[in-house]
Amino acid sequence: MEDHLMIATASEGTIRIYVALTTQIVEKARKIHETWPTATAALGRVLTGTLMMGVMNDNLCRLTVRISGNGVLGSILAISNQRGVVKGEVANPKVDLDLNSLGKFDVGGAVGSGEMIVLKDLGLKDPYQGIVPLQNGEIAEDFAFYFTKSEQTPSAVALGVLVNPDGTVKAAGGLIVQLLPGCSEETINLLEAKLADISKLTELIAEGVTPSQLVTMVAPEPEKVKFLEQVPIFYRCDCSWERFRGPLLSLDPGEIGDILKEQGRVEVRCHFCNKTYHYQADQLKQE
Ligand SMILES: [Zn+2]
Repeated sequence: MEDHLMIATASEGTIRIYVALTTQIVEKARKIHETWPTATAALGRVLTGTLMMGVMNDNLCRLTVRISGNGVLGSILAISNQRGVVKGEVANPKVDLDLNSLGKFDVGGAVGSGEMIVLKDLGLKDPYQGIVPLQNGEIAEDFAFYFTKSEQTPSAVALGVLVNPDGTVKAAGGLIVQLLPGCSEETINLLEAKLADISKLTELIAEGVTPSQLVTMVAPEPEKVKFLEQVPIFYRCDCSWERFRGPLLSLDPGEIGDILKEQGRVEVRCHFCNKTYHYQADQLKQE
């Protein structure tokens, strides 16, 4: 099954449900960054959450989410847009801690305490910025707190990554349920019970349960689900030779000259996709 995201409403439009299947995206990120299991889980959760947050915003040009913790992973960064494209990186990809007391990846321990910073470029003069303290560094609770606190939209968030014994990604995905104005107490109570039922989200994904099936499983009244949109989603980088050339031109000519003298060319590597670009002396002359 190809990665995709399903968007639906339920209970007369008083709740909105997003479910993403991101197994291929997280596996691609693992390969690019050569992450070890705890880092794979952490980066995968941030990529999945950022993707889902990205498609929620009309007019969004670019969404940047930074999980800035004081743990061994260092900072985790993800950038997405409204069309379901994401890329990301983790400062220290070689992190593999013992499982926590629940037998899960100790993402919270590896992230540590710190802040979640959200930057939304909506094409206006200044981007919107929201900062909230990390709740436990497990990423899902941090996203939930952000939606509730910073966007006043009470939300339940689940994000998960399952890793095979050889370190490759077995399954990855996420779920966000948002309570919209007019949501009844009864709906909330039903929803809480349903959410407990699908606590093993990634196991279900690994078994082949689809995002639309997961939407139906979580909806308080499954017969009243309205599917709005199915969005194909990808890990993709938008870097280019031209894009890296600009910043090189503004560097100190002496410094660039030294590199050219020693190596004959300047090499730049993109942090998000590992692509390398080369520049010869005559390509770096200011016009
Ligand atoms: Zn790139």
